[in-house]
Amino acid sequence: MAEAKKSKRPRGTVVISVELCKGCGFCIAFCPSAVLEFSEMFNSKGYHPPHAVNPDACIGCDLCGMYCPDFAIFGARVTREVA
Ligand code: SF4
Ligand code: SF4
Repeated sequence: MAEAKKSKRPRGTVVISVELCKGCGFCIAFCPSAVLEFSEMFNSKGYHPPHAVNPDACIGCDLCGMYCPDFAIFGARVTREVA
């Protein structure tokens, strides 16, 4: 039976609290994997929050969360094996 190839790159996921965001763009600027871009939508405060345009590239490093001044985003490692 052929074994599925496993990537050595850590897998991650990013979670965004759209309503907490003030559109500063720090998370976009500091993401090392170019996962994030500004969304075209507005939140209720009138800001463009980020959204994940390249979610498969997320490594779960949480740099986005560390730089966000409003606790509006965080990243986490995904440990579950996905076939
Ligand atoms: S760093 Fe936080 S407040 Fe700034 S754009 Fe990203 S999610 Fe929004
Ligand atoms: S967890 Fe890391 S790789 Fe994922 S979106 Fe945030 S900064 Fe980018």
